[in-house]
Amino acid sequence: MSKPLTDQDRRKQISVRGLAGVENVADLKTNFNRHLHFTLVKDRNVATRRDYYFALANTVRDHLVGRWIRTQQHYYDKDPKVSRKGCRSPVRTHARARARAHSGEGEGGGGRGVGLFCRRETAIPFARARACISACEPLSASIYRHFPGSSSLPRIVPPQVEEADDWLRYGNPWEKARPEYMRPVHFYGRVEHTAEGVKWVDTQVVLALPYDTPVPGYRNNIVNTMRLWSAKAPCEFNLKDFNVGGYIQAVLDRNLAENISRVLYPNDNFFEGKELRLKQEYFVVAATLQDIIRRFKASKFGSTEYVRMDLSTMPEKVAIQLNDTHPALAIPELMRILVDTEKLSWEEAWDIVTRTCAYTNHTVLPEALERWPVDLFQNLLPRHLEIIYEINRRHLERISKLYPGDHDRLRRMSLIEEGDAKKINMAHLCIVGSHAVNGVARIHSEIIRNTVFKDFYEVDPEKFQNKTNGITPRRWLVMCNPGLADVIAEENKMKFAAHLEEQYKVKINPNSMFDVQVKRIHEYKRQLLNCLHIITMYNRIKKEPNKAWTPRTVMIGGKAAPGYHTAKMIIKLITSIGDIVNNDPVVGDRLKVIYLENYRVTLAEKVIPASDLSEQISTAGTEASGTGNMKFMLNGALTIGTMDGANVEMAEEAGEENLFIFGMRVHDVEALDKKGYDAVSYYNRIPELKLAMDQISGGFFSPSQPGLFKDLVNMLMHHDRFKVFADYEDYIKCQEKVSALYKNPKEWTQMVIRNIAGCGKFSSDRTISEYAREIWGIEPSLEKIAAPDDPR
Ligand SMILES: *Cc1c(COP(=O)(O)O)cnc(C)c1O
Repeated sequence: MSKPLTDQDRRKQISVRGLAGVENVADLKTNFNRHLHFTLVKDRNVATRRDYYFALANTVRDHLVGRWIRTQQHYYDKDPKVSRKGCRSPVRTHARARARAHSGEGEGGGGRGVGLFCRRETAIPFARARACISACEPLSASIYRHFPGSSSLPRIVPPQVEEADDWLRYGNPWEKARPEYMRPVHFYGRVEHTAEGVKWVDTQVVLALPYDTPVPGYRNNIVNTMRLWSAKAPCEFNLKDFNVGGYIQAVLDRNLAENISRVLYPNDNFFEGKELRLKQEYFVVAATLQDIIRRFKASKFGSTEYVRMDLSTMPEKVAIQLNDTHPALAIPELMRILVDTEKLSWEEAWDIVTRTCAYTNHTVLPEALERWPVDLFQNLLPRHLEIIYEINRRHLERISKLYPGDHDRLRRMSLIEEGDAKKINMAHLCIVGSHAVNGVARIHSEIIRNTVFKDFYEVDPEKFQNKTNGITPRRWLVMCNPGLADVIAEENKMKFAAHLEEQYKVKINPNSMFDVQVKRIHEYKRQLLNCLHIITMYNRIKKEPNKAWTPRTVMIGGKAAPGYHTAKMIIKLITSIGDIVNNDPVVGDRLKVIYLENYRVTLAEKVIPASDLSEQISTAGTEASGTGNMKFMLNGALTIGTMDGANVEMAEEAGEENLFIFGMRVHDVEALDKKGYDAVSYYNRIPELKLAMDQISGGFFSPSQPGLFKDLVNMLMHHDRFKVFADYEDYIKCQEKVSALYKNPKEWTQMVIRNIAGCGKFSSDRTISEYAREIWGIEPSLEKIAAPDDPR
């Protein structure tokens, strides 16, 4: 009898079978060896693990190339034949830079959607013009290693250490540079109004070099293209300085131009108004739009003599989805191309722009909304500023006709915010320049209609839609949890426990409830509420050590933005609580607190299938959708959560009684805001809350630095925008119910099954088809595409 297959064996088999469907295993081995020998120039004696990976990647890529080319030919051939509702050519040129050194962005759910939307990683259907590389492991912003029970650690450790990850050092086997499609992008300069029209002159030029990555469909022989851009200095960069002896400096300065795509901004839900960021946003937008127009004109559809006429048909073949406001410059840039270069009238151009563009909002947090200073624009993009002013003039003219004399409304709706420094409200620009505006969960879409974009909803209600986010079951179930079908939870928990022990020398009790909160560290996500629950559990165990407490292993993971001090202190608090709790012999293995460092997709794929309880506890009205919540639901964890984001729809699909819902609803939060949130009153009224806060502020968890958490404490007590204390009591009560149910495995499992059964809605396949039908106006192509080895 042969040994039973392990999961790893099974996975290997599946992947080999997938490839072997078209070519046999012997061919595969031959090609692998050929790449090792001829491409990597190594033999088995000296090849490293990376060499093997590259040889395999190249072998797999070879299999895709035929389909990749065929798919592009198919689009070219079939495109003109299909009607308005036909298959729109996926000119999915992505407004993203191929940053060379990269960082934490693309970590959060939004970033996930960016990188892999073609694969339907999550719902977000189009690239954000964030200069980010989320498809690849982002800067491994690592958290220091945390060993509960280890005494060899220094007493004072930083909460998070960022380290560079030079991910392109060894090359990227999946991408193909396309220098033949390089495009110039202009910056700075000045605007001339002449008899022949407007000219943007004396600009500085940076070249945008495209890199294409194949994106295979699921068993349909389709391979689409993701095109990323890298900045290159032109040959003649600063050439004029050569004459005056500045040769060396001119060559060195080329780096300045190439810095545009060197690094991405690591913030999550936070706008940092830096010039380099604006440059990046314009760089990817300008490169992408030139590419779109070149391809449209080169298609059968666009290539007649009457190019001028044909551009008006662009919206029938091209959709530009503005994924957040980061690519908002697509609106003035397309206007500039159509009016200044193509010589269309303003009205004709505006019609094309608004029918082509659509906007997805991803947050209502005011600190995350992009508001660029007019001065910055005046200097960097003077022509775009003029165009934005003209868009605003016409927009306000329309509003003042609809609401004569309502000056306050004009001020609220203007694209330009007056004040010490004038600012451009990019969300307003996106709404005005788009035919569709959507939020990413039902409650979020309602909130934007009723609050931030209320005035816009009143004038154009038909523009506003909802597209609830989704996740891909291929990655988040079939790939990361192949054991789900065969009585899962135990196996996954044992595996993850073994992983923790091996990697971090942490021993955990696999019989305890795995209570997991993994996501970016942010005040609105309220990791601090989780901390207060941990401390409360700890104090209760200490008070009644002989009671039959439900054992829990609480795991919290996520990166802080490097400049977000409060978030880093939250990490510090979590690890400090762990140091005390995990080393208390009275507690034993009934409560453990683990900080999961370097949380990223590869870790998510391990921890989510092993989780019992999913923490989705943001303040109602702050998490637009969330996608982590969906991954846990699909993998058999139960959710403890607020009525926020997609949790609302999860409760609807699974039945509210099958989730642990607690806390304020959006209207309660609003009411409390009106009344005035007074954290101190909760502190004085709730003894367990008071005890926990006194312990934090008194140095109980940081004996060597008693004042360490005074800023956090001060925030929670006196200026907590996210009202942690207001939900404390209900959260603790709800957690008691969770603990009680966990003791009844039969009922727990029933609830899990009802969740898995109800999570179908959250497939990103559903999300994408909604975008396609309801925003882009296209239907799926029914035509099948042949594999390269099929006869044509
Ligand atoms: C899904 C995912 C997220 C998003 O999680 P939320 O709970 O929705 O914030 C963040 N990081 C990684 C690595 C993910 O896989």
